[in-house]
Amino acid sequence: MSYAGPEPDDFDDFYRDDDPRGRGGRRFRARPVLVTFAALVPTALAGWLVWQVVSGPDGSEPPKVLPAPAQSSSASSPASPSDSDAKAPSPSPARSTASPTRPPATPKAPTKPAGGGSGPLKGKVVVIDPGHNPGNFQHPADINRTVNVGNGTKECDTTGTSTDGGYTEAQFTLDVSRRLRALLQQQGATVLLTQNGDRAFGPCVTERAAIGNQAGADAAISVHADGSAVGNRGFHVILPASVHAGAADTRPIVASSRDLGERVAGKFLGVTGEPPSNYIGGGTGLDTRSDLGGLNLSRVPKVFVECGNMRDAQDAARLTSGAWRQKAAQGLSEGIVSFLRG
Ligand code: ZN
Repeated sequence: MSYAGPEPDDFDDFYRDDDPRGRGGRRFRARPVLVTFAALVPTALAGWLVWQVVSGPDGSEPPKVLPAPAQSSSASSPASPSDSDAKAPSPSPARSTASPTRPPATPKAPTKPAGGGSGPLKGKVVVIDPGHNPGNFQHPADINRTVNVGNGTKECDTTGTSTDGGYTEAQFTLDVSRRLRALLQQQGATVLLTQNGDRAFGPCVTERAAIGNQAGADAAISVHADGSAVGNRGFHVILPASVHAGAADTRPIVASSRDLGERVAGKFLGVTGEPPSNYIGGGTGLDTRSDLGGLNLSRVPKVFVECGNMRDAQDAARLTSGAWRQKAAQGLSEGIVSFLRG
């Protein structure tokens, strides 16, 4: 399925080593309504307390508090010009839902896949999107073609980053996603992967979003690790900004995705001990973006998680550890379970 205009299909995230992105200044403002809500919901409260009590493994300060303030799409500042991954989408010449060569994709009614076992998540569908693809390196022309993400165009897909030792982000995302799938299946969920190392490259970010939409997913998560500067550490969860342009309309999923993201962030911190990012999100571990096709085009609650910075030695030591990746999957699973059980 494609949202594409004259360009091919879609794209999504990606950061570069030299990506300061200048978005670290946002600070949390306590919101009484949310505090009250957390106090009324045991699972939310648990996540809340974990979030506030647990400090980083290196004795760093606990994060300020969750959640970060809601931000409009305009608050998602574009990346530095040198950051080809995270750059804001370029204006779409056709502003384009329509294509001169083919009509816009007609949204199909979601079809929830059958299956799933017994357990508390029986009947729930989760789509896990392992970021990038190990084969993307061999298919530059295919992944570099541009796709329409509603408010602009981006690359179909990107290669992702890697550790200094050569462990690629695509290997990491697949491994964590498979571990996460197993954990969610144990809870009875039906789980789909957008790719499972079973295709040459991609899929494009438009398709990654469409898979979640078509499945009528109750929750979707895109798994990544960042490629930022040495010394930049920690995880962050990316939430969809409110985007209403072209084929993108995230307005119905902004609130639910934030709920999902806050729960995932809290559980991820609690289980892994990985600190919230010290370079994005002002210590909240949350960021909001309007330039990721995988979020812009989603019609179901969806977040991205950047589990750590592959270019930092401390983070890389964790990301390359199978035992740590199991913890990462456990944290993500607990966050998703919390969201789905409400
Ligand atoms: Zn990535």
